[in-house]
Amino acid sequence: MSKNVLILPGDGIGPEIVAEAVKILNCLRQECDLDVELEHGLVGGAAIDACGSPLPEKTLQQAHEADAILLGAVGGPKWESLDITMRPEKGLLGLRAGLELFSNLRPAILYPQLAGASTLRPEVVSGLDIMIVRELTGGIYFGQPRGIRTLDNGERQGFNTLVYSESEIRRIGRSAFDIARKRNKRVCSVDKANVLECTELWREVMEEVARDYPDVELSHMYVDNAAMQLVRAPKQFDVLVTTNMFGDILSDCAAMLTGSIGMLPSASLDAAGKGMYEPIHGSAPDIAGRGIANPLATILSVAMMLRYSLDQPALAGRVEAAVNAVLDEGLRTPDIYTEDTVKVGTQEMGDAVMAAIKRGLWDEVTGSLPAQERSEICARSGGHTNDQD
Ligand code: NAD
Repeated sequence: MSKNVLILPGDGIGPEIVAEAVKILNCLRQECDLDVELEHGLVGGAAIDACGSPLPEKTLQQAHEADAILLGAVGGPKWESLDITMRPEKGLLGLRAGLELFSNLRPAILYPQLAGASTLRPEVVSGLDIMIVRELTGGIYFGQPRGIRTLDNGERQGFNTLVYSESEIRRIGRSAFDIARKRNKRVCSVDKANVLECTELWREVMEEVARDYPDVELSHMYVDNAAMQLVRAPKQFDVLVTTNMFGDILSDCAAMLTGSIGMLPSASLDAAGKGMYEPIHGSAPDIAGRGIANPLATILSVAMMLRYSLDQPALAGRVEAAVNAVLDEGLRTPDIYTEDTVKVGTQEMGDAVMAAIKRGLWDEVTGSLPAQERSEICARSGGHTNDQD
């Protein structure tokens, strides 16, 4: 049965990079029979301009009905003077909360071709492939009571509450173990169980969850050590699972290991695997409208969507292989450009990934055939060859 994907381009470079990702989805629909329907909607500043709200009712309803959502980015100087409840970012938070997207997946992958972009030595980060699973809808960011009060002695006191119920820990744990099964089968749970009772429970529940996954290895690490290990020897990790706040900090740290914000996708999933997929970067107003934004994080978000919400791991692999191929060819948007590579714009990069997908398909069809048969097929298909893509 056909699945529905809601496309929310948003603001700034959002529409430019999402257009390239939609190109890839359409290519997969045409060339690989990917059975999805695409619907477009408004969110963020674009929705404020059109309907007076960063998350119109219609968008929320479309999001509820969709199997997956692809989001560009929201925000920009135009809306910064609005009241905080009316800002574009509220649209994003409203979607996460409204759809109960509690599991935030932030891969930190360093393509070997871009090892020079990291601030760490290439041998420390080259080939890095970590998945950080961050709990997104609970913990200290949401716990009650919270606020700033004035004590009897007149001094002000700020307070927040770190709280996790067993069920919240269990569901993020299961999410991490399920993902580890699709990767290298190792989960490291990050906590501060030596100081915080709440994360003592976190550790206990992770142990319980692990009993259902005997094929996955579980280890534990205190968050201070995890931060240190991420910059010392990041390749030791496969899947890291942690609380909302620890995940917020560690995932930004891990992202920066790769040195290129325009390359990193993310997913936020609910309990049924429905997800919202988006690049980790923002709307980059400084380069919006110039055709130079890197669309690869958004295209790689499509790959994540294929893997986690559309049950198409083979197509996800095709998209990732195509991104790898264009990097091998030396194509770079300005943010990842170095000497001896070829500078391209947003659209050229999208076109190159699409061509690489088609080339991959072509090679599969004809690769094992003898030269004679290959050229006969080529002639029958109107001369469609590798070289012409
Ligand atoms: P940003 O991520 O938009 O930009 C930071 C820097 O990275 C800029 O120099 C930008 O040009 C560059 N950059 C980002 N994405 C790029 C890409 N794909 N290709 C090339 N270069 C890229 O962060 P910011 O400047 O702090 O925020 C700008 C706006 O985006 C703000 O309104 C902020 O609130 C919003 N924002 C939105 C999201 C989201 O929608 N998920 C996330 C973060 C920030």
